[in-house]
Amino acid sequence: MSEARLSDQLAAAIAEAGPISVAKYMAAANAHYYATRDPFGVKGDFTTAPEISQIFGELVGLCLADLWIRSGRRLTHFVELGPGRGTLSADALRAMASVGWLPEVHLVETSPLLQAVQAQRVPQAEWHADVASLPTDAPLLIIANEFFDALAIQQIIRCKDGWRQRRIGAEDGRFGFVEGPLVPLAIIPDQFRDAPEESVIESCPDAVDMMRQLCQRIGEQGGTILIIDYGYAGPALGDTLQALYQHRFADPLEDPGERDLTAHVDFTTLAAMAELCGLAVHGAIDQGEWLGRLGLAERTEALALAHPEKAAELKTGSERLSSPEQMGRLFRVMAASSGDWPIPAGFAV
Ligand code: SAH
Repeated sequence: MSEARLSDQLAAAIAEAGPISVAKYMAAANAHYYATRDPFGVKGDFTTAPEISQIFGELVGLCLADLWIRSGRRLTHFVELGPGRGTLSADALRAMASVGWLPEVHLVETSPLLQAVQAQRVPQAEWHADVASLPTDAPLLIIANEFFDALAIQQIIRCKDGWRQRRIGAEDGRFGFVEGPLVPLAIIPDQFRDAPEESVIESCPDAVDMMRQLCQRIGEQGGTILIIDYGYAGPALGDTLQALYQHRFADPLEDPGERDLTAHVDFTTLAAMAELCGLAVHGAIDQGEWLGRLGLAERTEALALAHPEKAAELKTGSERLSSPEQMGRLFRVMAASSGDWPIPAGFAV
């Protein structure tokens, strides 16, 4: 590629105008990263749930199809946010078709390269670079798996003289955290005002903004959003900005745009936004528990019987998705629904 490396561009921008916010750095790094590669799977940098087992997408698809059936089989659109390779959508749509639902498919994806990968698996889809252009004529059933963790976060950090914005500077081509301007004490939750030096509080304005837009739509049009990600119940202290490169943790300040940057998702904030828009929130609950209630074990058994040559791989996959030591507890599932839509399967006890 003839373009200057992103790290050179960012270093030049910092030399010119001073340190940049963590959000600006993360947004630029991830936009470049996803625009220039298919990062998923053994040969890539990380493996997501739908890439581990077809059963993941199938169960998501059946959960949404069940909502469609229970709400009267009316015209409803299927939406996936940040579909990666399109594997989840392809598996979900196959499962939906098996119970008679053939929805319009709307994929929200900023990377043209990944849009092309998705088009091979879900050729009937319509793509959107932004949630604003999603259709307004029918309820929306939305899935976001490992999407919100890729959105850019802001950090503030406790310094000697108070809380400050955390920024990123550059010296001799190396990036480092630097102290930014003081932030008003009023925005710091009471319980953290006297937190020790170096404590970090994160926020994700892009996630909040996107959640607001989606929940307003669901409130007006009907439907449900299902969010699956790793995260926490905020507010909390902690620096969760992390980089993955070839399946290992790496330094997030090295080689921006060449490794996957993520941050933990604050489910409390997303839930609060949904409630503000008048939606009912379900969960968050552990992914392992949710998949178990939807029939993970039964589906694994049935598929293994039908495809004995794949039995071992299917069982390992399901174990990886559900066991508390692997993805089962780290990942959480939350749903937000408009008042006239039923509670999604796997949440009501
Ligand atoms: N859901 C997929 C991939 C998760 S990776 C899976 O489970 O395998 C994050 C995905 O979100 C990628 O497809 C990336 O290109 C996309 N993405 C990141 N930021 C985005 C944004 N602001 N708007 C739309 N898509 C985005």
